[in-house]
Amino acid sequence: MRKGIAVSPGVVVGTAYCIQEIFVPTGTPRLNADETVAEVAKFEVAQQKVATDLRALREKVTLQVGCKEGAIFATHEAILNDPSFTNNVLERIQRQRSSAQAALHAFLMEYTASFSNKSSHDSFIRERLADVRDVIVRLSAHLSKILNCEDGPAIEGPLVVVADELLPSQAVALGNADVAAIVTQTGSRTSHAAIIARSRGIPAVCGVANILKQLHTGDAVVVDGSQGHVIISPDAETDKAYRKLEREFFLLRDELAENRDQPATTKDNAPLSLLANINNVDDTRAAVAMGASGVGLFRTEYLYLTHPSVPDEEEQLAIYRDVIDNSPNRSVTIRTLDIGGDKTVPYLGHRHQESNPFMGWRSIRLSFEHPELFTTQLRAIMRAAGYASEIGGEVSVMFPMVTTLEELHRVKRMVRRTTAELVERQHQHKVPRIGMMLEVPAAAVMIDSLLPVVDFVSIGSNDLVQYLMAADRDNPKVSHLCQPLAPAVLRLLSSVIRVCRQEGTPVTLCGEMAGQPRAFLVLLGMGLTSFSMSPAFVPSIKRLASLVTVDQARSIFHRASELRTTTNVNRFLHAELNRIAPDLAALELA
Ligand code: PEP
Ligand code: MG
Repeated sequence: MRKGIAVSPGVVVGTAYCIQEIFVPTGTPRLNADETVAEVAKFEVAQQKVATDLRALREKVTLQVGCKEGAIFATHEAILNDPSFTNNVLERIQRQRSSAQAALHAFLMEYTASFSNKSSHDSFIRERLADVRDVIVRLSAHLSKILNCEDGPAIEGPLVVVADELLPSQAVALGNADVAAIVTQTGSRTSHAAIIARSRGIPAVCGVANILKQLHTGDAVVVDGSQGHVIISPDAETDKAYRKLEREFFLLRDELAENRDQPATTKDNAPLSLLANINNVDDTRAAVAMGASGVGLFRTEYLYLTHPSVPDEEEQLAIYRDVIDNSPNRSVTIRTLDIGGDKTVPYLGHRHQESNPFMGWRSIRLSFEHPELFTTQLRAIMRAAGYASEIGGEVSVMFPMVTTLEELHRVKRMVRRTTAELVERQHQHKVPRIGMMLEVPAAAVMIDSLLPVVDFVSIGSNDLVQYLMAADRDNPKVSHLCQPLAPAVLRLLSSVIRVCRQEGTPVTLCGEMAGQPRAFLVLLGMGLTSFSMSPAFVPSIKRLASLVTVDQARSIFHRASELRTTTNVNRFLHAELNRIAPDLAALELA
């Protein structure tokens, strides 16, 4: 048994499907001699498609970001057309009868190895490697028909995807494949794979170091996403025990989802707002199915991370309209681009690694430096807001990582300028409600002076906790510190919520803790009434809310706030949860 970080609850007994960065399962069979001609043709078609993508990207990035950034794609095109690269791949297909995917993978491995004895600190080499990898990943995405094809991977039993880190592009390629569980070697509770797994309600474990060395495609595997356990080739007894847990988990989940049409209220009928966090239009369907009453956080960076090119204003508008049309009550809070930290886009200045990316050039800081990119998004959002209000819905906009009042003033100036542009262009639009994400302790300390400038606050506890505790949210070595139930976090949250309520400013919490039963109890006790979470968690929080009164929650919070250690808070809340809703403990993350 291997232990990792429990990131999405539930148990699955299935079959491993190990994917490499470019989707080549281990043990791909060799082609028959008569298949190589078709394989070469496939590779050449992919090459042409990538060339077209790269040219489009270069044009759009040059326009929206700058010439220097756009030039990256000229470099990529040169790599794509480099005869030594092409010949190497073709030779592998023709002589070794490798599939095009396997040939690309082998090339990448060999290329990486050839540099491994050179200094990895040499930034030129690092960049060159990143460029080659990027081109290969693009080719591979065109060639890949492994996970999103009609026939799917030829694997029996529920599919457990095992990867190093599930990249956004890979998550897209997973498409509609029936993935039952996800295991990754890296990552944490707030990394892409975790967020994607939770939004789909798929059990997942992250941070299982070197699991790809032990686990191979086709191996039987158990994933316990609640405890963070991965069991390779379980014996008959273990298999049986986990199958029982698996059945119980799915029964509970289905039973809970039956409350989707009931309003969210506490036991004493205080109304609550349970909203969904989404990354794309598919997640809106999960939000509806799980009974969320709106979208409290639309992470738009996934548009950029997964789009083959840079989505322009019209493309963004079409996506936003689609999201609005499919969201519960057509109510959507759109967050502007939150790139940086663990989410990087090569053309947005992340080729030069920062030594401290979460403390560096990310989110709104990056948006300010790319005004054309930022205002393009603002225009699309404001036009989407106009559309929403026409069909009886509502769009709000919020800005990530706000640190100072000056930043908010700057945002407001940009919104005013964008409004003027839209008036001049005679586009239908609306100035949406403007909110700030509260993720930086400095903003929490100064919250009273920021509130007059915004219409609402959304607490991003994933970031707020890591900054407050000075513990990287993606580093398993310090995960014992990066705890949302740490006394310091509870004290800060309760003070922010109190000030927002005093000032009459609506406040939501959209970090992962909103969907965790234990945390929900204390947050409710602090006076919070609006929660935004992965759609899969809505039914269990709705059930929990219906079992507790506001007074009970208040008393739980008061008693928790007297405790001095995270362990004691956890222990106390665990006991309270067991008393109020023992069945929900199965949905807790260890
Ligand atoms: C957060 O920080 O809590 C949040 C919701 O934003 P993200 O996880 O996308 O950084
Ligand atoms: Mg955040």
